[in-house]
Amino acid sequence: MSAPRRGRLALVRDRLRAVAGPLAAPSYEVIAREASDEVLVTTPDGTITFASPSFGSRWGLDRRRLLGADALSWVLPQDVPAVRARLAAVVRGQGPVEGEHRFVVRATGEVRWSHARLSDALRVPGVRGVVWNCRDVTELRRTTEALRHAATHDTLTGLGNRRELLRHVAEAAPGAAALGVVLLNLDGLKAVNDRHGHSGGDAVVRAVADRLAELVGEEGLLTRLDGDEFAVLLRGRARPVAAAAAVLAERALERVRRPVLVEGRAVVVTASAGTAVCEDPAGVEDPARRLFRQADVALTAAKAAGGDVGVAFSQRLLDAAHERAELAADLRAALAGGGVEVAYQPLVDLADGRTVGFEALARWRHPDRGPVPPSVFVPIAEESDLVLDLGAHVLTSALAQLRRWREGTGREDLEVSVNLSSRHLVQPGLVEQVRRALQEAGVPAAALCLEVTESAAVGDLEAARSALLALRALGVRTALDDFGTGYSSLSYLRRLPVDVVKIDKSFVDDHTEPSGRAVLAGIASLSGALGLLTVVEGIETEQAREIVRAAGCTWGQGYLFARPMPAEAVLAHLLGQGAGRGAQNLRERTTTA
Ligand code: C2E
Ligand code: MG
Ligand code: MG
Repeated sequence: MSAPRRGRLALVRDRLRAVAGPLAAPSYEVIAREASDEVLVTTPDGTITFASPSFGSRWGLDRRRLLGADALSWVLPQDVPAVRARLAAVVRGQGPVEGEHRFVVRATGEVRWSHARLSDALRVPGVRGVVWNCRDVTELRRTTEALRHAATHDTLTGLGNRRELLRHVAEAAPGAAALGVVLLNLDGLKAVNDRHGHSGGDAVVRAVADRLAELVGEEGLLTRLDGDEFAVLLRGRARPVAAAAAVLAERALERVRRPVLVEGRAVVVTASAGTAVCEDPAGVEDPARRLFRQADVALTAAKAAGGDVGVAFSQRLLDAAHERAELAADLRAALAGGGVEVAYQPLVDLADGRTVGFEALARWRHPDRGPVPPSVFVPIAEESDLVLDLGAHVLTSALAQLRRWREGTGREDLEVSVNLSSRHLVQPGLVEQVRRALQEAGVPAAALCLEVTESAAVGDLEAARSALLALRALGVRTALDDFGTGYSSLSYLRRLPVDVVKIDKSFVDDHTEPSGRAVLAGIASLSGALGLLTVVEGIETEQAREIVRAAGCTWGQGYLFARPMPAEAVLAHLLGQGAGRGAQNLRERTTTA
């Protein structure tokens, strides 16, 4: 400390003693000397009149050269106005003011953060200045920032997460004319995980994230909301935002579709997109909630359309969603109240026209709307666990009926087919449920065939495989339904443990074309070679029957033979066919009764 400086401090001490008594003077200097905080005293315009030793030593500055210097001269220029404003507030008597600012370390050029508490000691004799209590908070800020980043970002892709997205919506909402969102959901990530392990799934997610980040650029904020869900937030005016969302969704789907290399193998996934726009978000109570709900409705519609498409939210979609929810509730009530019935459609041996079994088909007559087709209510049931109740109901009804028909006709060869939804197929406890239902009905496992559609099985191939294997171990037969409507890959016939392949009606509709006939014959001969039974669905004409028979298919099902019929009509149908000894037995029993 220089001599003049020491003299001034002594003077200050003396003055303080005079005013505040003997303890006051040492305390000011001692505090300033001992405190790890860096203390400065400046004039109202920021000229340094005192600097504590810790201030000088921390910054490697010669304290003597600090005196008379401008305390704002090493504050980062962007932060100078804020610091000056705080200084002015203190001088105006608005009490101590705290704040953080950045400053540049002269020697290294490093930018660090300081927290400064500015208090008014302008009238304290011997100080007569503004006291700056400063603390270096750079590390604290870094740690806080790292924690904040970890809490708001996804570790796999480095993208912001849901919380980050909500923060951005909240920040943008007051000033934006409109906000838009594109929700992107990968269609088959679970299947990728099953097949290539979680590292394979992670590789796909990372590749998708990189492509989307490149696509979105500065146009919007890309975040990852969930394992397989991304969102892009857009802002601007309503019409351009809606248009940008639609274009972005299309481009994103195209980029997702490009194969990803996972351990040298090309993996292809697709995505579905739902977009929504919120106009004047400042006037909406909870813009984020509304935006994401609407985008979700659109995304659900995209998924329902089979995926790999983008859908924009509209009121019509919302009405349809409400209607679906209403139908789901009504269906639940119908299932609980015995309002869902089961119809049975004969399966016919193409060689001799005999009915060999029945397919059980759910039927629902809505109290107000009348009959609702399964193509409407089954997908609705599949959106929730409702489909498990539906499946259980059809299974127990069908097995109870089969027992009656077998007893009524004496035909031990009759079988029944029950459709299983994809959700039901992978439900833990399915095998136990089927075993119990068979036991309760007193029907052998071999008399039951469970049908799974090709698209359901392929959607999650590994899970479907293991479920089908477990069912087969029980002795139940399994069928691949609607073969040819989805992937039409003959390799699935080999990979999936099924006993029966049900060739879809569309192949029969094609039978007049020579190529259609060739395809039919090809499937039948391959199925035969694999030891599978072929059933052709949707046979409506004699000509179709002839063709499928000539192609070598085993069984048939279609309006030509019979439409699905109520349970009460089945026995009459079987007996009317003169179904052999069993029928005779029954007639004898009824006549003798
Ligand atoms: P599916 O399993 O392929 O059933 C065959 C469908 O073809 C039935 O329609 C049947 O009525 C119809 N069909 C049969 N013969 C002909 C024909 O000659 N011509 C025409 N045009 N159609 C014919 P349905 O009963 O409307 O069922 C449609 C689909 O709904 C079923 O297709 C099945 O995937 C699903 N489904 C029906 N009941 C259930 C159920 O209990 N559980 C589950 N999970 N799905 C069911
Ligand atoms: Mg079926
Ligand atoms: Mg079918």
